[in-house]
Amino acid sequence: MRVGIGYDSHRFADGRKLILGGVAIPHARGLAGHSDADAVAHALADALLGAAGLGDIGTLFPDTDPRWRDADSLELLKAAYTRVVTAHHRFVQADITVIAEQPKIGPHVGAMRERLAGALATAPSAISVKAKTNEGMGWIGKGEGVAVIAVAVLE
Ligand code: MG
Repeated sequence: MRVGIGYDSHRFADGRKLILGGVAIPHARGLAGHSDADAVAHALADALLGAAGLGDIGTLFPDTDPRWRDADSLELLKAAYTRVVTAHHRFVQADITVIAEQPKIGPHVGAMRERLAGALATAPSAISVKAKTNEGMGWIGKGEGVAVIAVAVLE
């Protein structure tokens, strides 16, 4: 068994869609980023890569590369997992916490689990997604952005 942790954060920006865990969430602002800025997919990909000792998505898919501009991050997640499988590891389970003051993430957790599970060819029951606020504190509390922590287990 191998365990990896991933963290990601993105800043809210006007004129962007809010995509988290492969799900388009209705909100006045989206997240800024080179790709679609899906911090859930990015944190999970880093957890998988970390568990396999294969680096991180910033190295595999640099934001200086025009190929990844506005990229669907579920495709990045799939590509990261392909590296993991090629290195003879198999996904077992993940636990993800999304920290955002708004919008409400809870109603979208089920859809996120399905989308993420689809990307890893696993069952939604193998991917836990939890939503928290930051109790109004700090940059998350002020609604400046979203942070995500993910832990993944491989065998
Ligand atoms: Mg990111």
